[in-house]
Amino acid sequence: MLDIIVFGGRIVDGSGNPWYKADIGIREGKIIEIGNLTGERADKIIDAKDQIVSPGFIDMHSHADITIPFNPYMDSAIMQGITTTVVGNCGISLAPINSEKIDMIREYLSQFLPNSLKIEFKWNKFSEYLKWEKKNGITCNVAHLVGHGTVRIDVMGMDARDPTESEIVEMGKLVEEAMESGAFGISTGLIYPPGTYSKTDELIEMAKIVSKYGGIYSSHIRGEGRTLIEAVKEAIKIGERTRVPVQISHHKAAGKRYWGKTSETLFLMEEARENGVDVTCDVYPYTAGMTSLITLLPPWAHEGGLEKLLKRLKNDSDKERIREDMIKGVDGWESFVKDYGWENIFISSVKTEKNKCFEGKNLKEIFELMKASDEYTALFDLILEEEGCATMIVFQMNEDDVKRVISNHLSMISTDSWPVSQKGSLAFGKPHPRFYGTYPRIFGKYVREERTLTLEDAVRKMTSFPAQRLGLKDRGLIREEFWADIVVFDIKRIYDKATYDDPHQYPEGISYVIVNGKVVVENGVHNRILAGKLLYKK
Ligand SMILES: [Zn+2]
Repeated sequence: MLDIIVFGGRIVDGSGNPWYKADIGIREGKIIEIGNLTGERADKIIDAKDQIVSPGFIDMHSHADITIPFNPYMDSAIMQGITTTVVGNCGISLAPINSEKIDMIREYLSQFLPNSLKIEFKWNKFSEYLKWEKKNGITCNVAHLVGHGTVRIDVMGMDARDPTESEIVEMGKLVEEAMESGAFGISTGLIYPPGTYSKTDELIEMAKIVSKYGGIYSSHIRGEGRTLIEAVKEAIKIGERTRVPVQISHHKAAGKRYWGKTSETLFLMEEARENGVDVTCDVYPYTAGMTSLITLLPPWAHEGGLEKLLKRLKNDSDKERIREDMIKGVDGWESFVKDYGWENIFISSVKTEKNKCFEGKNLKEIFELMKASDEYTALFDLILEEEGCATMIVFQMNEDDVKRVISNHLSMISTDSWPVSQKGSLAFGKPHPRFYGTYPRIFGKYVREERTLTLEDAVRKMTSFPAQRLGLKDRGLIREEFWADIVVFDIKRIYDKATYDDPHQYPEGISYVIVNGKVVVENGVHNRILAGKLLYKK
């Protein structure tokens, strides 16, 4: 007797091979039989006739950790077919954190979350954090990276300086503890404080430790526009020096002047691979990015944390210097305003009721509504009103680059999102549509409509490729003895409904999502089962 039979589907097994027809038998969480199971009995039979049956999607780059503490059901993730998510990206993980630094991390996260959502931090060490999460329960499987930014905050606060030798040792110990506890690698966020204050040598020291444990180095690189090429070279150098596999996060060429540069960056990656450096990347299928509004301000303005930043925005000479840096740019830092323009920067979420009407509007429109005589002053006022806690969506890429990266064999798919929901406390703001639509959009737009990818290659980029990257040996493929993480969808119908204007919409065309042999999404409805497992790097 089986627990579940997925009957009559076309199996796209995750390897990239063409689909074949077979039934899948599941027992005790695992796939135990693949073949003709006509006549076999099971507690549940899922009719997958005329549907695609694929491994569950592995989101190579997410920030799911920042909303899991409030809602472990991970609605927008599971509803788009994600069964495993990689968290702790862009330099920020929720551990390790010593008690005196909790406020600093909380302050950092408050940029992305409404006031009502404050993470409690019932842990210090990385291992304690994982234990907490396991006990709390999760809907999707979760693989953790340790954030270099978090480790740096823990040891050095938000100081804009080089670490001392003993601080390097201390940071190294924290990274080691995380890797010992089961982290899959380290992440860096080199446009954000405090990552932006670190130099390559510091990152090499951390990557060496990760490499020893077989982990990966996942990086939001130092620049994605003007300094894109140097930034890619820096990531490759870290791989070269430490033998760590390098994952370039949400790869893109940002800013009109730099469109087309992905030809060069992908070539650099190929060239590095020829020389033995294992570098790959991930990508989301949209031409806009999303991050916190204060990313518009130069790095020095962030030194010491958010409170100090807000103080600087009240001081005339600091304000003048910030404005000048934003207009002219600073060496090694990209000014979004200078490179992308006010009209391409849209407010995605704010804290105050007063400014809610700005959500979904661009800064140019907002300044008009504010009747502002000076754009910079208006921006500073807005940031002060929001106490630095607002997010923005920035239109910065071009479709050719997005397509080029998606279709390159070195890319896998990621959402770069945190789970949100149509209802409850996570239904706030106007999040980037990638939060809800990334995977269905790949199938709808890039497989079905534009034929940029074959169905099988798209699935490979979402399943076995990220599994290989993480070293998961029993997920990412439809194989006997593998965990039963499975998505059933209709390739003729699947599409992303989420738009920039109306993002809180679940996709169409996914009928079943199974996690560890448990049916979490059934006929398109979330069963609210915490079926996920905490994954440990082995
Ligand atoms: Zn990032």
